[in-house]
Amino acid sequence: MSGAPATVLRAVLRHGPLARSTIARLTGLSPAGVSRHCGSLADRGLVVETEGPVSRNGMGRPHVPVDIDTARHTVCGVHIAHTQCTLSLLDLRGKVLARQEIPHEDQTPGTILRAVAEALPVFLGDRRPLAIGVAAGGWVDTDNGVVVEHASLGWRNVPVREILATATGLPVHADSHARALVRAEQLFGEVRASESVLHLFVGNVVDAAIVTGGQTHRGPRSAAGDVAHLPVGDPGIRCGRGHAGCFEATVSDEAWARRTAGVSMRKLLSGNADPFLERARTVGRAAALLYDVVNPEVLVVTEASVIHFPECLRALRAEIAERSHLCAAPEHTVLPSSFDGDSVLAVAGGAVALGVLYADPLSHAVG
Ligand SMILES: [Zn+2]
Repeated sequence: MSGAPATVLRAVLRHGPLARSTIARLTGLSPAGVSRHCGSLADRGLVVETEGPVSRNGMGRPHVPVDIDTARHTVCGVHIAHTQCTLSLLDLRGKVLARQEIPHEDQTPGTILRAVAEALPVFLGDRRPLAIGVAAGGWVDTDNGVVVEHASLGWRNVPVREILATATGLPVHADSHARALVRAEQLFGEVRASESVLHLFVGNVVDAAIVTGGQTHRGPRSAAGDVAHLPVGDPGIRCGRGHAGCFEATVSDEAWARRTAGVSMRKLLSGNADPFLERARTVGRAAALLYDVVNPEVLVVTEASVIHFPECLRALRAEIAERSHLCAAPEHTVLPSSFDGDSVLAVAGGAVALGVLYADPLSHAVG
């Protein structure tokens, strides 16, 4: 669990620039403690005093506000997807400063991770990020930094942390991209006030992340969030395990492109919402089930058509309202991702590293 420095840093992230007295009021920490923590965070280049003292009605001593230092440190993201990896460089407010896509030549872990390791020094140049965050779909064991199972890539038990840490000499953290994106929402997105969030990701991989009490639920070996085989899909389609009507086998990008005569997602998204409405309704069926199990304050859906077409967001919300017992006002509690389709993969990798930093800043940054 995070300590007082993390509490101070997150208050500055959320509300900064802030005077130390305001941080004390917002966090309930003593003014002396806040000053001490701000000093430690400034020593490590995480916060900075902003320009110009702000006086309080001309009375008392000036209050110099502190803000997140976005000029000094960066983090690097590596997002591993079905057809490409996305390298990214983010500042400490989650802004994407640079990104690069590396298409896969083949999908073996060795080939993909070697290509990433070779591209990183050129991509980073003389910038040395605090850490690398790796995000991938499917089952990622966060504690051990291992992609346990990624069905569409055919990966099993790939030690991504060890491989990339050895290749780069940088600290490496790994997580599922559903959890990475919910962390990004909490830190930088629209839903950051929410204590309980359910995030549903629908792309080539379909998975979920669950936040309760402000903390991401992982479960043993970080396996929580596998929703691929919920029986809410087309009964005429069989998944890789031979079951009929599984969620992922029906709505994944690949499955949906097959349904629409092989037209690519990119091409479909440049047209109209029609080819996606049934998919939005199927996602809504799964979302309604999960909504009633978790009872979140907010459900976030990252799915290209829901982000892109208002009609798909309406269809999703209507299906959830129809099927959920608990979701009475989906226009307020069912939200598309805060990150647009172009930035979502670049944000996900970096958010893994930023999540670790904001949870325990003094252990993960040096001045
Ligand atoms: Zn299945």
